[in-house]
Amino acid sequence: MMKLRRYLRGSGRVLAFVFIASIIWLLFDMAALRMSINDVNSQMLKERVIKEREIFKQQSKMSQVIKGGFGHPVQRVIPSVKQASNEAMHVHDLAENVYRGRRKGQIITDKRVDSKENDPPKKLQTEKPSKVRVDLDINEQHQLDSSKPKPKPTTKTAAKVVVANETKLQSSIQEGKIVELPKKKDDVAPKPQGNLNIGQAKTTAQFKVEKEKEPHPVKTTTKPPIKDVKSQVNRTITETQVKTAVKDEAVKAKELLQSVPKHQEKVDLKENVTVVRKEPGVHKVLSLDMTQAPRNPNAVGQFGHAVILGGEEDAEVQKRWAEGHFNVHLSDQIPLDRAIPDTRPETCKDNLVHNDLPSTSVIFCFVDEVWSTLLRSVHSVLNRSPPHLLKEIILVDDCSTRDYLKEQLDNYMAQFPKVKIVRLKERQGLIRARMAGAAVAKGEVLTFLDSHIECNVGWLEPLLERVYLDRKKVPCPVIEVISDKDMSYVLVDNFQRGIFKWPLVFGWSPLSQDYIKKHNMTIADPIRCPVMAGGLFSIDKSYFYELGAYDPGLDVWGGENMEISFKIWMCGGEIEIIPCSRVGHIFRGQNPYKFPKDRQKTVERNLARVAEVWLDEYKDLFYGHGYHHLLDKNNIDIGDLKDQIELRKKLKCKSFQWYLENVYPDADAPVVKAEGLVFNQGLRKCLTLHKGSLLFETCDLNQQSQHFNYTWLRNLQQQNVCVAPQNKEGGVGLFLCERANVRFRWNHKLGNSALGDHFITDYTGRRMCLEAAPKGDDVLLRLCDHNSAFQKWELTHYFA
Ligand code: UDP
Ligand code: MN
Repeated sequence: MMKLRRYLRGSGRVLAFVFIASIIWLLFDMAALRMSINDVNSQMLKERVIKEREIFKQQSKMSQVIKGGFGHPVQRVIPSVKQASNEAMHVHDLAENVYRGRRKGQIITDKRVDSKENDPPKKLQTEKPSKVRVDLDINEQHQLDSSKPKPKPTTKTAAKVVVANETKLQSSIQEGKIVELPKKKDDVAPKPQGNLNIGQAKTTAQFKVEKEKEPHPVKTTTKPPIKDVKSQVNRTITETQVKTAVKDEAVKAKELLQSVPKHQEKVDLKENVTVVRKEPGVHKVLSLDMTQAPRNPNAVGQFGHAVILGGEEDAEVQKRWAEGHFNVHLSDQIPLDRAIPDTRPETCKDNLVHNDLPSTSVIFCFVDEVWSTLLRSVHSVLNRSPPHLLKEIILVDDCSTRDYLKEQLDNYMAQFPKVKIVRLKERQGLIRARMAGAAVAKGEVLTFLDSHIECNVGWLEPLLERVYLDRKKVPCPVIEVISDKDMSYVLVDNFQRGIFKWPLVFGWSPLSQDYIKKHNMTIADPIRCPVMAGGLFSIDKSYFYELGAYDPGLDVWGGENMEISFKIWMCGGEIEIIPCSRVGHIFRGQNPYKFPKDRQKTVERNLARVAEVWLDEYKDLFYGHGYHHLLDKNNIDIGDLKDQIELRKKLKCKSFQWYLENVYPDADAPVVKAEGLVFNQGLRKCLTLHKGSLLFETCDLNQQSQHFNYTWLRNLQQQNVCVAPQNKEGGVGLFLCERANVRFRWNHKLGNSALGDHFITDYTGRRMCLEAAPKGDDVLLRLCDHNSAFQKWELTHYFA
């Protein structure tokens, strides 16, 4: 000891210091060498992602409601984007567009729209001459890339390949059968590379653990809101089981993935006396975001940012617009695995879900989908779904005509063992295409998605959790907006649910403040949803079939969201919007594909089928809102409904009135337009039906013979007896009502015309009005006279 001290006291001390210093230096050097450029990139990217999310969250709190009402709940643009000068216009356009987006496609709405709105924007931005990608904040720009090389759009080469291959490709495709693409060693999502990946293959294997067979303490068939489940579960789970300290999303996910199976292991105590009960079997929602290669923070559209292309690209944008009715030219430049902001409410990340959630088959139907959006949709599912829950992705090609969707798609998807392609021999429309996908699905839950979406982090587990809690729950993610013009990812308003207005027009409407207060709801709680938007939802497979799937008589597009929504609610299920699950969707102004028959006729025929099967007496509201012509069987053949009506009986489904009262009580759905006594101003008496003829008596609410309905079909009727013109020459008589017959239709209180109080008919070929004979012993048909008090009528109650 003394020797050592002495040694260190002298010149040896210097030597020792130099020696230790050089060892440390060497270690640093080695460490530095081991870090690849990729490591550096992805490290910086990670920080960037976190920073981006922070900025996004903070700014989104401050941003303002731009448009509410009966459109899509578009609220905010991605705030981290430096505001483009035309932003206000952009948001407005977007909102307008979205208003007519998914399920806007009802004929009446469309007719009112100026067709120009659907055209590609003339000029997206003229101020900036060259391509502007992400507007970085100055510090970040410096930190990320001081030399500022011109980054190449990541997918540009891919897009080029498409063009090059198009000419070479043959349309020799295995039609009508499932193409099981060549299997890779591991039945897992794409092989991860780069630092943001988290070793999927390994973790998948780890997840193949024995499923918990004991009844779970949290499992329930009632409908506890997520927060209830959470608090219940919280009591049984310890801090250490769910580590929260790690900030980085990917690292956190890795830890969770690895920690989950531990919960399920049986632990033998040393004494081997008792076996410890299985752990509760829950974990925090996995916020996975795996990429195939490190992300380029400077890539076009990265982080869901808006991209403003230079004016010189306008022509190309316009040229390619019709391929998808969105900015296809821009989409092709955006990475297929771009990051998007995590828009979930803050608490979602901490929600617990069960370890033994059911697996799902994700079904994408498409017809002539744009290459880059189809692939981005698929990648977003592969990258952001826990591998053990993603049984497969089924792509149902609804007889697309584009070459690149044949062999080239097969080849591309061959990399991903989970992706299967089903080719339909004939164009079936999305309804039957979805059923074709469901028919081959092996997952316990079906998850339907549109082919131009981007799933956000943590999107899947919250959906599956709801199905797990109750197989009759049909959860939908919040549908956020991917701008059709600048491809930015846009956050939407909270507390929105899908509803319909007459004549079965889908729309969004916020929950009332009263309702939110009464149910003590937070922005992360599931929202009861009267009608789903249609494109994106999960459903227990066996329940889907129990419900008879979709009505296979529905063609191409439209109305199927109404059908499945009414069916689910009325036959014992529930539709929910899950705010912790978020998926972006490109809302388009027009359907980019052809309808085999007339689009308008197709949609209205579908809706008429839905109305006939599900609406009971309320179907007159549907027909009465501009669809009278559908009542005439000579006009339209809506097909056979026997099976559907039979199914409704078999399932003992509830009435539409029940649905209105219990599911959508704020619906505006009076079963008649007006009812009560029919008072004539000239006579100051009421119309009376007495022994098969019409006369007038002193008004008396107690007299049933004086009670009439003015219906949505515009009939003036008592029971099934209608007041109508005798014949083309005139006269008024009583007849058994005929729903389709124009003879029975009276215009009354239509608009603010001078004849508003009249009952007007066009049946005789010219406008005639219902008139009381001055003696009060008859009812006549006369030329309309807006001054005649004998032609003015008033019913007791008007509902519409
Ligand atoms: N689709 C289909 N066959 C059709 C019509 C549509 O497979 O005949 C697909 C389409 O490619 C998309 C999904 O069904 O993935 C929903 O259609 P779309 O996006 O046009 O509906 P929207 O979102 O406008 O309601
Ligand atoms: Mn769509």
